[in-house]
Amino acid sequence: MEDLKGLRRLYRKGNGQGRRYRRKMNSWSFYELQRQIEYKARWLGLPVRYIRLGGTSSKCAVCGSRLVSEEHRAMFCLTCKRSVDRDINACS
Ligand SMILES: [Zn+2]
Repeated sequence: MEDLKGLRRLYRKGNGQGRRYRRKMNSWSFYELQRQIEYKARWLGLPVRYIRLGGTSSKCAVCGSRLVSEEHRAMFCLTCKRSVDRDINACS
């Protein structure tokens, strides 16, 4: 799980999202959400890990090679010869 404090910054400007959508995202209580996820995960015996924002977006989830930025939010791995969405790659 990404440190949710960083998410707030993501939704502030640009990103192609409408003003209304952005406000909705910012009105969440991120702390509360994070606390609940942690609680539920612990209850289920799942480990909760926090990862550093940024680092996961620049490396391929499959081979660990550096990714090259493509248009929009896509990244390209020169080793795997595949294009990935940077958010999906970061979660893999
Ligand atoms: Zn790769």
